[in-house]
Amino acid sequence: MKRDYYEVLGVGKSADKDEIKKAYRKLALKYHPDKNPDNKEAEEHFKEVNEAYEVLSNDDKRRRYDQFGHAGVGSSAASGGAGAYGPGGYADINDIFSAFSDMFGGGGGGGRTRGGGSPFGGFEDVFGGGFSGGGRRGRSTGIQGSDLKIRLKLTLEEIAKGVEKTLKIKKQVACTECNGTGSKSGKTETCQTCHGTGEVRQASKTMFGQFVNIAACPTCGGEGQVVKDRCTSCYGEGIKQGEVTVKITVPAGVQDGNYLTLRGQGNAGPRGGAAGDLIVIIEEKPHERFKRNGDDVIYDLAVGFPDLVLGTKIDVPTLDGTLKLTIPAGTQPNTMLRIAGKGIGHLKGGGTGDQYVRVNVFVPKDLSGKEKEQLKELRKSPNITPVPGDHENEKSIFEKAKDLFT
Ligand SMILES: [Zn+2]
Ligand SMILES: [Zn+2]
Repeated sequence: MKRDYYEVLGVGKSADKDEIKKAYRKLALKYHPDKNPDNKEAEEHFKEVNEAYEVLSNDDKRRRYDQFGHAGVGSSAASGGAGAYGPGGYADINDIFSAFSDMFGGGGGGGRTRGGGSPFGGFEDVFGGGFSGGGRRGRSTGIQGSDLKIRLKLTLEEIAKGVEKTLKIKKQVACTECNGTGSKSGKTETCQTCHGTGEVRQASKTMFGQFVNIAACPTCGGEGQVVKDRCTSCYGEGIKQGEVTVKITVPAGVQDGNYLTLRGQGNAGPRGGAAGDLIVIIEEKPHERFKRNGDDVIYDLAVGFPDLVLGTKIDVPTLDGTLKLTIPAGTQPNTMLRIAGKGIGHLKGGGTGDQYVRVNVFVPKDLSGKEKEQLKELRKSPNITPVPGDHENEKSIFEKAKDLFT
């Protein structure tokens, strides 16, 4: 039999928030596992105290508790929350501990642990961190919503500077008819299949002896409670298929396969459970002009022979508009010309990569008779046609080309 939450914290029914907070802090410290190593009883007290605080410190939950008792706040979580029977469910206790050390270490802040199903969202309230935003995380009722994965295709231009995307995504949202509870009246009742324990046991005899299988109750999904007065709009699930608009801020410098996790923006949890996460997987669209090399980009530029010899200025595209690039006189093929700061913003630490322009020789194929005559004339000059076996000349070109690829 579950104890009354007020009794657990040793406060009166009319206790105000401050009193509840004080009582909780005192008891949480008293039963904290660091002070009671290997003490199962203290651990149970610690959980109980946390659960009581989680409900009584929240106006909405406290009201439901006052009105409907444990049933009003999905109190099957008594034995560790909805997840307690699933894989890794007992990790919850570790969450409590890490949360607890946060409060001494100061860490605090968001993103610490998955709040879902864990009845211990209260620490920040007490110790100053503060849960910002919707506050759906840390609710102890219902079932944890599933994570949602989406792919986000980005151009190199978007990656270079970072981008904010507004996307419409389809996901499970809380039913508006029943406020996500799944029940018209907001009431739940004890599950008849498992009698509120949330688990079913099956004994099987084998040659090694009798085994007892414990599984989550199929009727209530391990919650121990089922919805009373089913909401007809969501068939008692508390969630419906919906569409939401999400703003995603992608920092500069991401790469194909990187992902961003938006906590609590995934599918809503059935019957008031915490929402899952939205995982945004980055896909980089291949660019028709630029090749990416880390945070640098490479652009191939074909330059006519006369321009390489005499030097010129050429308009070159960058990820950020066009730019006039000086081709110095005597530029050799395969030279990499660097345009500083026109690459991709670094993901970590400030700064930006560079653009490299790889200079190639343009060799024309269609020439008029006159042009051919001019070239034939030029060809006769020893300054134009290298002397066969002139190693020095060949070597310098070769070495320059090698530089570029190491
Ligand atoms: Zn059940
Ligand atoms: Zn509904």
